Amino acid sequence: MSCLPGFDLDRAEPSEMGMAGQNDTRDLAALIDQADQMVAFTGAGISTECGVPDFRSPDSAWKRHAPIPFPDFLASEAMRVEAWRRKFAMDDLYAGAQPGRGHAALARLAAAGKMTHLITQNIDGLHQASGIAPERIIELHGNGTYAHCLECRQRYELFAMRAIVEGDQRAPSCTACGGIVKSATISFGQSMPQVEMQRARRATLACDLFLVIGSSLVVHPAAAFPVMAKENGAVLVILNKDPTPLDSLADLVLRADIGDVLDLIMRKGVDDGGSRPQDAEKTPLSP
Ligand SMILES: [Zn+2]
Repeated sequence: MSCLPGFDLDRAEPSEMGMAGQNDTRDLAALIDQADQMVAFTGAGISTECGVPDFRSPDSAWKRHAPIPFPDFLASEAMRVEAWRRKFAMDDLYAGAQPGRGHAALARLAAAGKMTHLITQNIDGLHQASGIAPERIIELHGNGTYAHCLECRQRYELFAMRAIVEGDQRAPSCTACGGIVKSATISFGQSMPQVEMQRARRATLACDLFLVIGSSLVVHPAAAFPVMAKENGAVLVILNKDPTPLDSLADLVLRADIGDVLDLIMRKGVDDGGSRPQDAEKTPLSP
């Protein structure tokens, strides 16, 4: 019995699958079906259809508003003001962005109990907006939708920070302890968040399917997690528009439009069968 009821890609139109072959998309559906504990690992590619610019694309707005490295941010108030100015310029470009088809598919897999955790390199907050419970989301590079004090971690909202930066022409500091306030992202040159790295490691080692979605897998140490999963016996799938350095390690590689593939898989499950049964027969993926 399939836990994607009515799933029948034989009837799918090739145009519905972008560049991924029908077999590859069917294989991914089967692997998701068979998995007990899936972990998704997402990068910028899942958010591009939502209008969030990809840092790595050649014409990216990130090139015009390049983030300030962390040591420079700490070094002077002038640099902090400039860092905030660039952040707000980027935020304005994708203000109002909504979760896309890939986010929606993952939210359904989380709700069905299939996906235990979602590890993301993205800072756009769209996974939370799609309805995935915060405790299932591991943000390796932080979150750009709010700010916090670097000393005491007091949270601050961006609209208030913007009023200080643009109104007073100064960088905000913490009203509780006087510390420097910064967007809650992990900047270049800033240490990785240890708690999140540990959570990601635990989730990776517990999963039997590790699905990379929209990451070029060139940023370290984030790119170590797919390798860790594979070496631990999980099935590794990479769904990305372009080749990645880990493609040769993967059990299945789909170079295709993320929204097209995930939407098709989920839609075929919805159209014909209603809810997903929780007691589907399982086939062990690895000894
Ligand atoms: Zn503080």
